[in-house]
Amino acid sequence: MSQNIKNYSILNLDPHSDIDKEIASICNDLNIYKTHALDKQDALEHLMDEEFDIIVIYTSISQDEVINILQILSQDIENEDTPIVVVSTYEDNETFAIELSEFNVISIITYSNFKAQLSHLLKYLKEHTVNALELKKELIQSEDRSTIDPLTSAYNRYGAEDKFQQLTARFKAYKESFCLIMLDIDHFKKVNDIYGHNIGDQVLVSIADIIKSMIRENDSFVRFGGEEFFVLTSNTNLKIATKIAEKFRITIEQTPHSKENLIKTASFGVVEYAEKEEMESLIKRADLLLYEAKKSGRNMVLAA
Ligand code: GH3
Ligand code: MG
Ligand code: MG
Repeated sequence: MSQNIKNYSILNLDPHSDIDKEIASICNDLNIYKTHALDKQDALEHLMDEEFDIIVIYTSISQDEVINILQILSQDIENEDTPIVVVSTYEDNETFAIELSEFNVISIITYSNFKAQLSHLLKYLKEHTVNALELKKELIQSEDRSTIDPLTSAYNRYGAEDKFQQLTARFKAYKESFCLIMLDIDHFKKVNDIYGHNIGDQVLVSIADIIKSMIRENDSFVRFGGEEFFVLTSNTNLKIATKIAEKFRITIEQTPHSKENLIKTASFGVVEYAEKEEMESLIKRADLLLYEAKKSGRNMVLAA
C-alpha cells in the first residue's frame, strides 16, 4: 500500500450493540481503523486523545443521552467538525432529526439500512476529501438515485412509483386491470425484542425472498415500510390477486425463517386499481383492509 494513503478512523460510541461487529466487518473490508468506546467516560477519553474521520452513535441509549454526547462532541476541539452518523432504532426519526439539526449529524440511518449506507459513506469518504456538509449532500443524492431497498432488494417507494405508472399506462391502453397486495408481518416487534435486530433482518429477508420467488416477471415487489411490503400484480383482477395473496400467506406460514427457524405469519389487504386512481389512494385502501385483518385476528387475507 502506498504511504500517502490516509488511515481513516471511525469511533463507534456504542459498545453493547451487535452493530459494533457489523461496523468492524465494513471497516475491515475498507481498511478503516475502528475504535469503540466501552462507556461514556472511555468515549470522552478517546475524543480527547484522537481526531476521528467519522463518529457513529447508536440509539440503544436514551435520546437525552444522545443529545448529551452530541453537546460534548460539539465542544471538543479535535472533533468539532467530524461528521456524525446516528443509527436509529426509534420509530419517529423526524422529530428526532429536528433536535439533532444543530449538531454535526450528517445522517440518521435507520437500522435496516445501516450496513449499506455506512459502507457507501465510508467508501465515499475515503475516495473524496470532503467536509461534513459535502458528505451529507452526497448521502442525500445517493438515496435519491436509489430505487432499491438495500436489505431486501425490493423496490422502495420511488421505484414503486415508476412501476405504478407503467401499469396505469397499460390500463389506459388495453383496459388491463392490476391489483395491489399489501402485507405486514404479524407481531414482528417481538422477533426484534426476543432475538435481536439481526434475526429480525433475517426474517425480513426470508419473507421478501419468498414473495420474490412467487411473483411473475411483470409483477413488482415493493418494501413500503419497515416490515410492510406490497406487490403490484400485473394483468390480474381482484379474484386472482386474492388467490395469489392466499398463496403468499400459506407459504410464509409454512416456511421456517432465519437461522432460528421461526414461524411467522403475515396479514394482507388486496385491492384492484380503479380508473384514474392515484397510487396513494390505492395504497390507502389496501392499508385499511390490512388494518381490518389485524383487528380480526391476523394471518388472513382481506380483499375488497
Ligand atoms: P402487528 O402484528 O400489529 O403488525 O405488530 P408488529 O409488532 O409487527 O407491528 P409494529 O408496527 O408495532 O412493529 C413493527 C416493528 O418492526 C418495529 C420496528 O422496530 C421493526 N422494524 C422495522 N423495520 C425493521 C428492519 O428493517 N429491521 C428490523 N430488524 N426491524 C424492523
Ligand atoms: Mg407488523
Ligand atoms: Mg407495520
